[in-house]
Amino acid sequence: ARTPLLMGNWKMYKTVAEARAFAEALGQQSQKLDSRIEYAICAPYTCLHVLRVMLPAQVRLGAQNVFPEKEGAYTGEIAPGMLAEFGTKFVLAGHSERRMLFGESDQFINQKVKAIVANGMTPVLCVGENSSQKEDGVTQEVVTGQVLKGLDGLSADEVANAVVAYEPVWAIGSGKTATPEDAQEVARAIRAAVAETWSDQAAEGFRILYGGSVKPENVASFVREPDLDGALVGGASLDPTSFAAMAEAI
Ligand code: 13P
Repeated sequence: ARTPLLMGNWKMYKTVAEARAFAEALGQQSQKLDSRIEYAICAPYTCLHVLRVMLPAQVRLGAQNVFPEKEGAYTGEIAPGMLAEFGTKFVLAGHSERRMLFGESDQFINQKVKAIVANGMTPVLCVGENSSQKEDGVTQEVVTGQVLKGLDGLSADEVANAVVAYEPVWAIGSGKTATPEDAQEVARAIRAAVAETWSDQAAEGFRILYGGSVKPENVASFVREPDLDGALVGGASLDPTSFAAMAEAI
């Protein structure tokens, strides 16, 4: 059975002082966190230290990006080994904001995924169709294509330990969500594509999160679906009370 995963993505929000206040407030509600569920916050790099020190023990550290080289003259970038040394467990790769705003290709995202795995961390490969692709009815092809290209070159065991976040681009920060049934259909297609390319065992092992306007009121409706194992949450993960409420709702 796959362990449910509730993951926050803070994007470019929160100073160190704000992150400390979040961790303190979440600590006061830590009775709402369940030992059978895994939690993580993908924070700005500058917040990772205070979160490592102050987050409740059940909440793991995540990063939002990485550069796929060991070290070198890459001004402004962060290496996977730097994140691993820090105790970072999860790293997002290919968030739609990075694909759109920074022109990240499937091939570059695949290099990041491999670098994350090679450094002992868990990649969270983000995929999703945009609104015109949805209208054109090509959601499943787009999403399974992103998954196969993003995970290319990993072994079946490495795939089994990976995480895929299905985030329809039109649902991010819009207040609109996919229906749980539609998200389930896409998740099932992702699992089928992974089974065909790697193995049934790989396809049964890896976790799929839904993302896009998740909040305390709707998180359970997604996690209840058989092929969805958790949520990747932007806006609603910034508030400790709403993070705790989502933890409680799952
Ligand atoms: P929102 O939850 O704010 O819609 O963001 C989703 C997202 O992009 C998480 O990575």
